[in-house]
Amino acid sequence: MDANEISRLMNQLYLTLERVNELRYQIERAERVASVKEVALKNAIGVYEKQSALKQKLTVAAQTLEREATQVAETLNRRREQLDSAKSDREYEALKLQIGMDEAKNDRLADETLTALSELEEADTVLNKFRQNVQECDNALELAKNSLKTIRRASEKEILETETRAKDIIGSLPREYVGFCSRLAHKEDGPIAPVVDKDYCGACNQSLPPDVVLKVSSGVATCCTSCGKLLFIPESSDS
Ligand SMILES: [Zn+2]
Repeated sequence: MDANEISRLMNQLYLTLERVNELRYQIERAERVASVKEVALKNAIGVYEKQSALKQKLTVAAQTLEREATQVAETLNRRREQLDSAKSDREYEALKLQIGMDEAKNDRLADETLTALSELEEADTVLNKFRQNVQECDNALELAKNSLKTIRRASEKEILETETRAKDIIGSLPREYVGFCSRLAHKEDGPIAPVVDKDYCGACNQSLPPDVVLKVSSGVATCCTSCGKLLFIPESSDS
């Protein structure tokens, strides 16, 4: 096999492996989006639950105040009735004093109840907003999951086909190249790299010694002296 034929096959192999990487990246990106949406939903639920607990607390507080206010009002009525049947001036004055204190307490409770009710209303408005947010996050997660499913289905099929094509190309290369390819298969972004700008490795961007470039051009399986990837001359190159 001559150097040109090797170069042609290596170019095809490179494009094929690039495509596999691209497809894998698409899946990864969709997975990342889905996991970000999942975290967002979890956070939204946490915020909602906290607010829900606050609303519960405010509800209990408002109910307690209302109950207290009812009791004070009842006491006040009873004392006012007793006022008419007071047996002495002393008893009358004592009741008057009690009634005055109860009235003050009644006013205070009425104010506190109003404040509690308006706080409760505010908490409820916020809670509704948070509930809406949970719903929105849930919808966004659903969309991201569906999109991931679609991308996976489409990409996984193409990845398999493209990997098969890559294997076929590797199989048709000289034995020496096949050995390098299988040994370097674990390398990130693939086992091969083009020589760019006449004497730079296209993967690690390090300059290559002239004898290495010469060997690559003449069709001898040669690896980058820096990153170790199997080098090839790109088709567009004039060398
Ligand atoms: Zn390199």
